[in-house]
Amino acid sequence: MGGLSNDSVSSRIARILTDAAEQLASIGAGNPRFEAELLLAQALDKPRVYLFAHPRAELTPAENSRFLALLERRLESVPIQYVMGSAQFRDLELNVAPGVLIPRPETELLVDYAWQALERRREKLQGGDSSMPGPWLIDVGVGSGAILLSMMQEERKRCGSSEGSWFQPLGIDLLPTPLTSTGNNAGKARLPRPALMRSDFLSAVTTDAPIAGILSNPPYVSASEMEALPVEIYEYEPHEALFGGVDGMSAIRILLDQAAPYFQQGAFFCCEIGGAQAELVREALDERNLWKWSQILPDLAGKPRVVLIEPDRDPLLP
Ligand code: GLN
Repeated sequence: MGGLSNDSVSSRIARILTDAAEQLASIGAGNPRFEAELLLAQALDKPRVYLFAHPRAELTPAENSRFLALLERRLESVPIQYVMGSAQFRDLELNVAPGVLIPRPETELLVDYAWQALERRREKLQGGDSSMPGPWLIDVGVGSGAILLSMMQEERKRCGSSEGSWFQPLGIDLLPTPLTSTGNNAGKARLPRPALMRSDFLSAVTTDAPIAGILSNPPYVSASEMEALPVEIYEYEPHEALFGGVDGMSAIRILLDQAAPYFQQGAFFCCEIGGAQAELVREALDERNLWKWSQILPDLAGKPRVVLIEPDRDPLLP
């Protein structure tokens, strides 16, 4: 074979990745090389390791145009998860598309906190009539299903797939797109389909069955924080799932007010908050006489991120 033309060099995998990573860096992508690999692997319909094993392989014109189409969307600042159509959250690979919030790493620990609270609740409620349907576990603003499906997955780990779940999962959202997304993601994870309901927060919930707990990652971004959001969030992710009113607290306050009757039955409440919101949240809890049952817990980065209320527990704080 004679010398290589520039064209053939530039259509080889190693070179494509270098060029694409450079372009992705220029739009401020967090991990440009990794994103380039994800996009190319997707275009080739191969696992990422294929790229490392075949750095000198050339793309067919069809593969090349598939790759360029993906890269172009990402270069328009469409979040990588929307371009790929999926996002990783704990053990789940969730399908995501515009209209549902992309699950975030800061929400992952919330599931652990909620799971521990649910276990404590289960112990308290044990001895109840086992022929009755289990209590509800409700996720308000269910989105892609990240939180609720992770709780179901923990339950499956606990009791195996043959036994049914102790609790009845219910996903609530104001809009239909997230409900469809959660239903599909349950199927993808081979989990049973949770009950799904359109409701403005808890307003449409009418049940005689007890509620074990209420979970939520509500919109909590304040007006000034909205203005500072990166383009890829502001332009592409649903504002319904982000914007929490002027001080970011509107949805959290509504949730606390609507959850009050369930607190009287001992339901726990586990809700994500903004990393700079702990003081405002503490005030809102104080005003409602809830602070003595509450903890504000950190995310993986150590920021105060989750409010956990357990009215059934001995007061945790003086
Ligand atoms: N953590 C998200 C962000 O800053 C906000 C999610 C939310 O409002 N629940 O983009």
